[in-house]
Amino acid sequence: MLDILAIEPDSIAVELGLCAGDRLLALNGEPVRDLLDYQRLVQAEELLVEVERADGELWEIEVAKDADEPLGLRLPHPEPEQCGNNCIFCFVHQLPPGMRRSLYVKDEDYRFSYLYGAYVTLTNLDQPSLQRILTQRLSPLYVSVHATEAQLRERLLGRQGPPLLDQLQQLVAGGITVHAQVVICPGINDGSELERTFRDLVALAGRRPNCRCNRRGWPPWPLSRSGSPATAGACRSCARLRQQRHAPWWRGYRPGRPSA
Ligand code: SF4
Repeated sequence: MLDILAIEPDSIAVELGLCAGDRLLALNGEPVRDLLDYQRLVQAEELLVEVERADGELWEIEVAKDADEPLGLRLPHPEPEQCGNNCIFCFVHQLPPGMRRSLYVKDEDYRFSYLYGAYVTLTNLDQPSLQRILTQRLSPLYVSVHATEAQLRERLLGRQGPPLLDQLQQLVAGGITVHAQVVICPGINDGSELERTFRDLVALAGRRPNCRCNRRGWPPWPLSRSGSPATAGACRSCARLRQQRHAPWWRGYRPGRPSA
């Protein structure tokens, strides 16, 4: 059920006599839980619209329209599920105080991954949500992998989650495109662990995935004074993987190279 926030002028909803304050219950018999349900269901050319009016009266209205024609309802945007992780590199924890409040939201919501490309770890993904992704083909999704070895991933995320490779396997088998990212923490998930992660992902994809290294063109890593052999090992690992037969295909990415 979704509260109707407003009605677009000159829309089908105006013709139907709907008003702000009414509640959208279902479309073609399927409950409308959130904006994703609505966006999918409203594409039908023939709709049975079930509405609870502000005074409690129930309406069922039949609508015939073009597939791309909106009803003209302004509906609430979903609130993101909160992240229960405690990543050792959490960028939210590293923010200084006093910034825009929305920057401190630790969101972890597959719906936002689908809608906006937000990266999720899938640690809070329950079975009904996984089924929904598969049934509604919510693709692509953006997944923070970081490591495929279970204990190492647990250390990085600060919590135990469902087996990631099983989740990814189900998503890929269900036709969901997955964009995976690895935040490399020097001395923790680089080197041989990074190679293992890549190999697991390549095996899962069953083909060369497209890879992008966000460090290319940036100052040498690490940023500490002492340097880190383990981090240098990550770069060597990447170079080795590039040369292997089933290596990922790499391309550089320079999202605003820092000035010297
Ligand atoms: S997933 Fe990790 S990095 Fe992202 S908000 Fe949660 S704790 Fe922070």
